[in-house]
Amino acid sequence: MATNAILSEEEAMKRTPQPVSGSAERISARRWQAVVDRDTSLDGAFVFGVSSTGIFCRPSCPAKRTRRENVRFFDHALQAERAGYRACLRCRPKAVDGNPQSALVRAMCRYIEQHIEDRLTLGLLAKEFRRSPFHLQRTFKSVLGVSPKAYIDAVRLRQVKQNLQAGHDVTTALYAAGYGSSSRLYERTATQLGMTPEKYRRGAVAAVVRYTIANSPLGRMLIAATDKGICSIQFADRSAENDDQLQQGLMREFPFATRRRDDAAMSQWRSALASLIQGQETNAALPLDIRATAFQRKVWQSLQKIPRGETRSYSAVAKKIGMPKATRAVARACATNPVAVAIPCHRVIREDGDLGGYRWGIDRKEQLLALEKQL
Ligand SMILES: [Zn+2]
Repeated sequence: MATNAILSEEEAMKRTPQPVSGSAERISARRWQAVVDRDTSLDGAFVFGVSSTGIFCRPSCPAKRTRRENVRFFDHALQAERAGYRACLRCRPKAVDGNPQSALVRAMCRYIEQHIEDRLTLGLLAKEFRRSPFHLQRTFKSVLGVSPKAYIDAVRLRQVKQNLQAGHDVTTALYAAGYGSSSRLYERTATQLGMTPEKYRRGAVAAVVRYTIANSPLGRMLIAATDKGICSIQFADRSAENDDQLQQGLMREFPFATRRRDDAAMSQWRSALASLIQGQETNAALPLDIRATAFQRKVWQSLQKIPRGETRSYSAVAKKIGMPKATRAVARACATNPVAVAIPCHRVIREDGDLGGYRWGIDRKEQLLALEKQL
């Protein structure tokens, strides 16, 4: 089984709806799209040469676009130069590598991507990187050709698109991309998306979510997965009515995905989960395909390091992730864990030994912990 993966935003950013691998033509097509879109997030990933001018540019170059047939793609600036192209003076495609300015900008880009759900301002970035806002703004713009704000917008928009394509509802998609209120997004992104998010979502290709419902030591267990990994694990008591509720819950979670019950295809996950619960596979690392804010990711990754048979307090987890004051936010992150057991939020209890809460019922938490202590 693949390595455990709570997708970071950065990784999620690299993901595109299309398969990543592909023929050279497919890669060229995607690169051309990035050039047309002036996609700043692919700066550094490749450059393109324009045969009619003999100049090569980064994907985000603000210069006017030429026709597709005049364009050649190169993985590195060096290759473009070897092929006889000169670097564009406007977008400075060589600046991406090997100078301290671009290292700073690259670090800023990563920071922005990883904190996209926060309220990112130039002032905040200046504090984080210990430079004046003016210096940051100027450096960023000279290296990337766009302002930090424009970059933040682009990252957000991309995140929203991915969230919508993944089948999340508009409010969730916006919230996870750092838009405080949806009204603000509607104003802004209707123009950026070229349509309302609602309409974009309807047009997006629906993701396929396969699921199964089976018996487990903890009652009925629903496991759902995309082709990239498990996206939901839920529990309920044994009854036909509860099975319906599990399915309705899945529908609420992925309202726009194509949901398919597929007991056969899911049997592999079912047995993996069973051994995980029974402790036969203590280090089972299940590939997960879940959306997380930077904070949730931090908490959830920290939970995965709590050894079987042990517990931690909410405040201990908060300290562990370097945010000692965030005890309540940690509890919230535990309560919003989409994959029971795989992310062992049941191993977090209150400081006084009280079990605290559990999304799938306190009895189940108790049972799980007892089971883990035994084995
Ligand atoms: Zn250029």
